[in-house]
Amino acid sequence: MRLAFFDTKPYDREVFEPVLKDAGIETVYYDTRICEDDCILAKDCDAVCVFVNDDVNRKVIDTIAEYGVKVIALRCAGFNNVDYKYANAKGIKVVRVPAYSPYAVAEHAMALLQTLNRKIHKAYIRTRDFNFSLNGLTGFDLHGKTVGVIGTGKIGRVFIDICKGFGMKVIAYDKFPAEGSGIDYRPLEEIYKEADIISFHCPLTDETLHMFNRGTINRVKEGVVIINTSRGALIDAEALLLGIRERKIGGACLDVYEEEAGYFYEDQSGKIIDDDTLSRLISMPNVIVTSHQAFLTREALANIASTTVKNLIDIDSKGISENEVK
Ligand code: NAD
Repeated sequence: MRLAFFDTKPYDREVFEPVLKDAGIETVYYDTRICEDDCILAKDCDAVCVFVNDDVNRKVIDTIAEYGVKVIALRCAGFNNVDYKYANAKGIKVVRVPAYSPYAVAEHAMALLQTLNRKIHKAYIRTRDFNFSLNGLTGFDLHGKTVGVIGTGKIGRVFIDICKGFGMKVIAYDKFPAEGSGIDYRPLEEIYKEADIISFHCPLTDETLHMFNRGTINRVKEGVVIINTSRGALIDAEALLLGIRERKIGGACLDVYEEEAGYFYEDQSGKIIDDDTLSRLISMPNVIVTSHQAFLTREALANIASTTVKNLIDIDSKGISENEVK
């Protein structure tokens, strides 16, 4: 099997290269994301490996299908960026890594919340400059606060356990509640009305696109802190910014952003950022943004690599994989 590995970062290559070599998969690594203009890089390959911001649309699929690509291997859980139905119709299998470390993502969500709340990022900068003043660093106790968890799958549940460890009251919403889980499920409206902190852990679908919008922001508790480590487009970013400017939203912890594809994962420090909403959000004292890094632990990377390779081998040898998206 010959594989074109797109959007390669040094940390990907370090982990993937030995595993792919061991499996005998000949791999060509490209820094670029897969796109209509760069599909040629997949010529003579049986499979492509892509990540969260590779836009695998119909035109890309048409071209790689012509080149003989038989598998699109997502090295992530979410698959909203791949038109999998179209790929399947063209005879291309789509595989993903449904679980690699829910702990990595849930722990990052809590790290963001603690950083924002206790202003660790500001304290760190201050003390490096021997500024030991505490003015402006007041946070609040998490203990006793109500957290609303939207999406109680693998990551949502780990996050719930972490929150319980902090003595928080957890209420949750899921379109498909897990029976017998002991989770205190409530209607979505109740989550918005009662939660001091809301954390999103559901997938991006047509139904969840902009589920947090101007209308819902009007119904949340004043001062609510929003955490999004799922997919950016669950939140209407302009509405979020407005909610922050109106002092309705008390803070936002964002590992994902709906227009992140043009910015995240790259050093943009010397450039002028054209996205005013992103710039304004980053400039807010009560917003913390990380660059879609919640997954980035050693354990998660190792699991992503081994599952991706297993997916490829299963498709190659048996024609099926337990991790197919269809
Ligand atoms: P999962 O499939 O285990 O859980 C998702 C949950 O969302 C399920 O319980 C499902 O029933 C629920 N759900 C589906 N539709 C819903 C809706 N309309 N409203 C409410 N709930 C709904 O997935 P997971 O492993 O817990 O991952 C959750 C999301 O986290 C993924 O979809 C992915 O987008 C994101 N993610 C982000 C990172 C990161 O690095 N930031 C890493 C991995 C995953």
